[in-house]
Amino acid sequence: MIAFALVLLAVALAWPVPRLMARAQVFRRSPRAALFAWQCVTISAILAALAAAPAVAPLVLFDGQEVWKHFVILVVAACVSGLMLARLLIAGHSIGRRMRVLRARHRDLVDIIALDHDPNTRVRVLDHPVPTAYCLPGRESRVVISQGVLDAMPPKALEVLAHESAHLHARHDLLVEFFSVIHETVPPPVRCSAAMTEVRLLVEALADRASVRRVGKAATREALLALAGSKAPAGAMAAGSGSTAVRLDLVDSAEPRRAMSALMYAYSIGLIALPLALLALAWT
Ligand SMILES: [Zn+2]
Repeated sequence: MIAFALVLLAVALAWPVPRLMARAQVFRRSPRAALFAWQCVTISAILAALAAAPAVAPLVLFDGQEVWKHFVILVVAACVSGLMLARLLIAGHSIGRRMRVLRARHRDLVDIIALDHDPNTRVRVLDHPVPTAYCLPGRESRVVISQGVLDAMPPKALEVLAHESAHLHARHDLLVEFFSVIHETVPPPVRCSAAMTEVRLLVEALADRASVRRVGKAATREALLALAGSKAPAGAMAAGSGSTAVRLDLVDSAEPRRAMSALMYAYSIGLIALPLALLALAWT
């Protein structure tokens, strides 16, 4: 039965597929295509779960045999789809609200305690000796760097800003928020924290590549080493987050890989097409 195939597909996309993808380090070599693939896996899993009920409907409407049996399956499938949708909406609302509140509070705080700054710019410098840099995304975004960054590497402050500007410009926070919502929607035993870690790493790799394009590999490496392990408040995106060793390796190999990217895009589109094709088959 097609509805059963859709449920199996949803389970496969929620359980083994993300675990296998998180282990396949080849995805890291093309971060943009890899992030697209991660989005498609996630969306395809949701589509498959939500399409289970509509796939049973034709059996109830058009198939005269075993109507009651099919009706019970339809009700169960509709309950599963409804539960999934409700969990998605609740997680989306609570995570989005939590992030906005945290960032607004921290933005107000840095605006008060930052050293002399031009209120027309979004860069704030904190009087702290430890090098740290992070951004607070949102409509009134901020790039926050410590005095330690300026003292330790005056010409390098620009590189830090290139990385943070890439996060803000491309709204990487929305991407991370999307995956956080899905992560929270999935029941805890099925959740794949390796997938969440991988997505965060890919987002950092993408911002590092923007930095490489602007200031070159050597300067990006220096900034990464200086900020290794630096901390940032909740809701912010830290320049030093993720494994520095892995990020340095990705900076070194930051060359375009067109064939690999094309394969990843084809894989992604295939993933989205699969549940839609199964649903279309159920109605033919
Ligand atoms: Zn970053």
